[in-house]
Amino acid sequence: MDQSVNSSVLARRAARSPIAQRAIRSLSSVGTRWLQRNARDGNIIFDTGSLMVIAPHPDDESLGCGGTIARKTSQGLPVTVVVVTDGRNSHNSETIKPAELAELRAAELLDAAAALGVGPEDVRLLGFEDGHVPESYDDVVRQIGKLVREVAPNQLLIPSRQDAHRDHRTVHDAARAAVEAATEAGHLVDCQVLSYLIWFWKPEAWVDPDASVPRMCAQLLTRPVAFMRQIGRTRTVVAVDTDRFRTAKRAAVNAHRSQTSNITDEPGWRTIPADVCEDFISGQELYLTD
Ligand SMILES: [Zn+2]
Repeated sequence: MDQSVNSSVLARRAARSPIAQRAIRSLSSVGTRWLQRNARDGNIIFDTGSLMVIAPHPDDESLGCGGTIARKTSQGLPVTVVVVTDGRNSHNSETIKPAELAELRAAELLDAAAALGVGPEDVRLLGFEDGHVPESYDDVVRQIGKLVREVAPNQLLIPSRQDAHRDHRTVHDAARAAVEAATEAGHLVDCQVLSYLIWFWKPEAWVDPDASVPRMCAQLLTRPVAFMRQIGRTRTVVAVDTDRFRTAKRAAVNAHRSQTSNITDEPGWRTIPADVCEDFISGQELYLTD
């Protein structure tokens, strides 16, 4: 094992300790409150026109944008949900095979979409393998491009590049590339692209994976502050009032049962803790506009 791998493993272990987890959660709520205070009113952006949400995995659409989706469908506005991967690799299980898990997650996704007012005809599963999106980058750009041209949405919500997951970062880049190509070719006019934050508060979102431990500590201290200061200067975050849609959003998040509960009773089956889900189900959803 080389030094860089050592550092990375050590940093990950340290970040998973209960004390570090508590500290990270506290900092993330401070960060989220700070973003909310510096956000512009985003309601006006979404109260007209059609929306397409691009999610890397089944559940990101609900965690990141569930309230906004429900707000739009409650006004009779069209929403298309595109999910890039089938989620077959979210768990390593003795009792459920990857193909079965993918099938289950597709069913959960349709239940979640229904809770948000989106019918099955408006849910598109691209079927890529989760954890391996970077390897399929060109194909992902092509498939997103095809859908973007077909639907020509007025708003497009994509995952943030600041997220601590390489599938999320790759889907961000792929969606940006697809939109740029469709706009240049004249297939897309006036589409506003915004990004949603899911795992941005995790330490991995802010450090270079091959950095030494002292360097990682320095990055952890400086990069989030630089990010917040940049947002404060540019005011490139908007907030959408989703308070009335918390019940719908909670139902959508919980519809992803394989992610929010231990469906196999295996001790290693990791779930998104209920309090983390509740953090996502606040009365506001935040989007970056640049
Ligand atoms: Zn995800």
